[in-house]
Amino acid sequence: MKIALFPGSFDPFTIGHASVVERGLAVFDKIIIAIGVNAEKKTMFTLEQRMEQISACYCHEPRVEVCSYQGMTVNIAKEKQASVILRSVRTVADFEYERNMATLNKILSDKVETLILFAEPKYEHLQSSVVRELISYGQDISACVPKEILKCIESK
Ligand code: ADP
Repeated sequence: MKIALFPGSFDPFTIGHASVVERGLAVFDKIIIAIGVNAEKKTMFTLEQRMEQISACYCHEPRVEVCSYQGMTVNIAKEKQASVILRSVRTVADFEYERNMATLNKILSDKVETLILFAEPKYEHLQSSVVRELISYGQDISACVPKEILKCIESK
C-alpha cells in the first residue's frame, strides 16, 4: 500500500489544499493529512478546530486520515508508514522553501521521498494567510474553503 503524508499548518485548510489531496489520491492508496504543531507559531484556529474542520471534509473518504504531530515531519511519516511526503508549490518563493525542506528531509531520512505537485493554476493565488485576513475583516470565504470547513467555521 502506497501511503503519502501531506503535512502543513492548514490554518485554515483551503480548496487549494483539497485539490492536492484529491490529486494525491489518484497516485497513492492513502493520504494522511498531518497538521504540524509548532508551539512558537501563533495560529488563528486551534489544533482541535483544525482537526475537526479537516476531519469533517473527509469523514466519507476512508483513504484519507487526519492526524497532528510535533517535531520532525520524517518521524511522523515513518510512524505512519508513509514513504512519501506530499507537498505543493504555487510560486517561485514556494519553490525555494519546498526545495530546502525536501533537501533537509532527505538528509534526515533517505527512506522518505518528497513529491511536489504544481498547484492548479486556478488555486495558485490561494493561501491560508489571505483567508485569515478575509475572516478578520468579516468577508465571505466561501470561494476559498471546502463547504464542510465553512460550516465548522460558521458554527463557532
Ligand atoms: P506550511 O505552513 O507547512 O507551509 P500550509 O498549510 O501553508 O503549510 O501548506 C501546506 C502545503 O500545501 C504546502 O506545500 C503549500 O505549498 C501547499 N499549498 C498551500 N496552498 C495551496 C494552494 N492554494 N494550492 C496548492 N497547494 C497549496
